[in-house]
Amino acid sequence: MDHLPIFLRVQDRETVVVGGGAVAARKAELLARCGARVTLIAPELSRAAAELISKEQGRVRHLQAAFEPQHLADAALVIAATDSPHVNASVAAAAGARHLPVNAVDDLRLSSFFLPAVVDRSPVVVAIGSQGTAPVLARRLREQLEALLPARLGALARFAGLRRSAVQQTLRPSERRPFWERIFSGPVSAQVLSGDEAAGDATFTRELAASRSRRPTVGEVYLIGAGPGDPDLLTLRALQLLQQADVILYDRLVSQGVLDRARREAERIFVGKNSGACRTAQERIHELMVSLAERGLRVARLKGGDPLIFGRGGEEIRVLARRGIPFTVVPGITAGLAAAAAAGIPLTQRELAQSVTFATGHFADDDGLDWDALARPRHTTVFYMAVSQMEQIVDRLLAAGAPRDRPAAVVERATLPGERVVRSSLGEIASLARAERIAAPALLIIGDAAAAEGAHTAFQSLKEALRGVA
Ligand code: SAH
Repeated sequence: MDHLPIFLRVQDRETVVVGGGAVAARKAELLARCGARVTLIAPELSRAAAELISKEQGRVRHLQAAFEPQHLADAALVIAATDSPHVNASVAAAAGARHLPVNAVDDLRLSSFFLPAVVDRSPVVVAIGSQGTAPVLARRLREQLEALLPARLGALARFAGLRRSAVQQTLRPSERRPFWERIFSGPVSAQVLSGDEAAGDATFTRELAASRSRRPTVGEVYLIGAGPGDPDLLTLRALQLLQQADVILYDRLVSQGVLDRARREAERIFVGKNSGACRTAQERIHELMVSLAERGLRVARLKGGDPLIFGRGGEEIRVLARRGIPFTVVPGITAGLAAAAAAGIPLTQRELAQSVTFATGHFADDDGLDWDALARPRHTTVFYMAVSQMEQIVDRLLAAGAPRDRPAAVVERATLPGERVVRSSLGEIASLARAERIAAPALLIIGDAAAAEGAHTAFQSLKEALRGVA
């Protein structure tokens, strides 16, 4: 390490950027964002630079001139960002003579400091540098960290900052660090990061009181939607929470690829059951989830698709709330949306469908579906758990007046290896699916949008083109 990483305070200080192009404008914008006053020195301004000056209203000003050393008289920091190596060199020399920190864009030799790639979650800021060797690599790392660090990390830091003195007054010095460790890896953190500061505050207050009386603290449950199977379709928050879970309870529909993204040390417990599982199986899951959390563990309850769509997530939420266990719900991409995307079916499209219904194909015991509404034109219906009931679904729709030639599609294993799409009409789809030996998990999509032949063909060729690129 031959550069000292520091965060320099430039608030209300004079800084100079030499150059009027897009690069100079970017540097000036960064300085202005940190509260500096910026003088852009250039005979001419690019459009980007002119727009910046009008946007920043006085914080960035333009000095229309060719660079001269006396322009640095009041400067605390200098950036040379012209496209002339000669001008940049003379800026660096003038700054050097005044012992001013200077950066010449893309020029290692002329610079006394570099601007790092930045992940900004103010007040938390991550700066990544490669000491000028590989700025593109630093930028790639920045992108990876962008994806990894929660969007509300800054809010969490502010939340903690506002409570530091309360902790200092309440806990002995030796207790503070473990306390904050618990806060940042536990429910308070999850609640604040999901945007619920009120809940975070309530839990924080309870945790602080419990720490004082040394009661063991309770864990928490993350009710996470695992998406349709392809792990790249996990949300960033799902990934973050899977990385900090102690134990993972997962269903049959959760793919190996998704489980592979979870924290390596986390214990994985399969609690899958077959569709329509009996009450006791579900109750056993509730008991397991609650007892693990009561031991202080962070439990990820991982469910296929979205946890609140045909996933019995509601029952689990109710149990957790009743038992006073903090929980966070993370939505997932539900299979219906993934299947539509896989098949290029626009679930709503102005001329074809104005509404969409997600329905269960398991209506045998409890048929609360409004078949007349589902049979109407300009409506798309997506049936989950449809494989074993396909004939009955078709019969009901026909009986309610849907035409036999209404387009229909079955999507099997959407986003998973072996994904298949079968297209036909309402009248034919069930026998075609049987002939093709379609098996669960699969969805049945019915409605004029399911044909959308034009969209489909264009989509298919795009998909093939992309496969060619990969
Ligand atoms: N909570 C889940 C649905 C659970 S019900 C979600 O939001 O997606 C289970 C049904 O979902 C299956 O019977 C099947 O109809 C559908 N399903 C789940 N994953 C699927 C996939 N990858 N491809 C097609 N259908 C899927």
